[in-house]
Amino acid sequence: MPFKTLRLIEPLLRAVQAQGYEIPTDIQKLAIPYVLEGKDLLGCAQTGTGKTAAFALPILQRLHESSPAHAPSAPPAATTHAPRGQAQASGPRRPIRALIMTPTRELAAQIGESFRVYGQHTGLKHTVIFGGVKQGPQTQALHRGVDILVATPGRLLDLLNQRVFVLNGVEILVLDEADRMLDMGFIHDIRRVVSQIPTKRQTLMFSATMPKEIRALANTLLHDPVSVKVEADSPAADTVEQSLYFVEMHSKPALLEQLLMQDGQLTRALIFTRTKHGADRVARRLSQADISTEAIHANKSQNARQRALANFKAGKTRVLVASDIAARGLDVDDISHVINYDLPHEAETYVHRIGRTGRAGHQGKAISFCSEEQRDDLHEIERLLGKRIPVLQHSIKAPPPSPKTDGDQGGRPGFQPRGGQRGQRGGGQRGGQRTGGQRGQASPGSQPAGDQPAQAAQPTGSPEQQKDEFWRSRRKRLDLGGWGQKKPRNRGRGGR
Ligand code: AMP
Repeated sequence: MPFKTLRLIEPLLRAVQAQGYEIPTDIQKLAIPYVLEGKDLLGCAQTGTGKTAAFALPILQRLHESSPAHAPSAPPAATTHAPRGQAQASGPRRPIRALIMTPTRELAAQIGESFRVYGQHTGLKHTVIFGGVKQGPQTQALHRGVDILVATPGRLLDLLNQRVFVLNGVEILVLDEADRMLDMGFIHDIRRVVSQIPTKRQTLMFSATMPKEIRALANTLLHDPVSVKVEADSPAADTVEQSLYFVEMHSKPALLEQLLMQDGQLTRALIFTRTKHGADRVARRLSQADISTEAIHANKSQNARQRALANFKAGKTRVLVASDIAARGLDVDDISHVINYDLPHEAETYVHRIGRTGRAGHQGKAISFCSEEQRDDLHEIERLLGKRIPVLQHSIKAPPPSPKTDGDQGGRPGFQPRGGQRGQRGGGQRGGQRTGGQRGQASPGSQPAGDQPAQAAQPTGSPEQQKDEFWRSRRKRLDLGGWGQKKPRNRGRGGR
């Protein structure tokens, strides 16, 4: 089904063609006709499915067709950001006619870029506003007048309160990644903003998940909406090869380093940690090992984040370590690997993360590190996926006990890698899944290096004696009793 069957106008078809898009994605096929009709829409789709174009293209078309300014000789679309220090352009102020609210700066910048690309032949103007940077250039762009505003809720409300602009001309409102905006505590900001928008409008809401809070919000903001849904895990399931290592928290750094050193296919890796400090620690360690790495998270300045992203996109940096929020919506082609250094608490987040690779029909790989304290998270993920993730073996030796762990959660140190047992027991026999230990396998006897707690004490005795002593002392210290025999939780779930 080619794009033109969606009744898109020529300036948009030209832009889409220049991007190399041949056929619309599922969410585009489903959503574009309804949005063109002016219907409210509730879309369940994650980033990576092409949902930005699913709302941007019909919005551009609707505004273009009803714009008094549009004419064949209309000037090209404005730049997304006002150049610093540039004098304000003369000319009438235009009302903001479409508002897109999205949770993060990165996502806002990417949506702005999509409007620039798709709208380049329409003459429509847009700008992007978000926090963490000076507001001057943003207010100048708003003063010059834009048709479309892409914004994060905090800065949007801030500038509204300063009366920099008004929203009484908004005809189309988009809430993008609504679930994430709620997670981030933006609900009150959203309601305050929406209260300043005319009730007679078209509202589109997109969310990767549809918990009851999102449905409740949709009920209050949308009028008789059409619901469209694209399966959350389908892009991941088809094009991303998933695998898993069971590994102690404090052995993760060594395993990660080893994979990056030994796997030549690991050309562009996005690594997820749970915390900002964890991201910094991992980036620091890899940099020390001469692996070009940068980290992005909320504590970094906007400039530093954009620089790191640009380096990663340009292939100057091989590894980008990110927190979930900073990476949300990250749109980088050809990410060869997503590595979950820590498994996320929410199963949906896992699907989001691995959806950063294997895009647009390319193959991608997702490797996860699961430590003892993350086993329940793994159960939930596998339950959502409806299948088990194949287990790979590694031979990173567990270092002796130390009060300090090198993991991201400060969880209890050390665990008997039951995954090893699982891999041996079932990994090779499960539905033709790969047996563990074939890829990225650590060399026998390799030791965690650098800041490993392994440096803290040198064990004595034979390897078997050392191992026995190690687990005996650990169980005693942590008062775990029969830890090894602990009944796995949720055995009934996820087919386990
Ligand atoms: P999104 O879900 O909007 O973040 O889009 C994910 C990626 O898919 C972006 O890199 C888009 O440029 C790309 N994309 C969007 N629509 C299409 C399409 N119809 N064909 C090929 N790639 C697309």
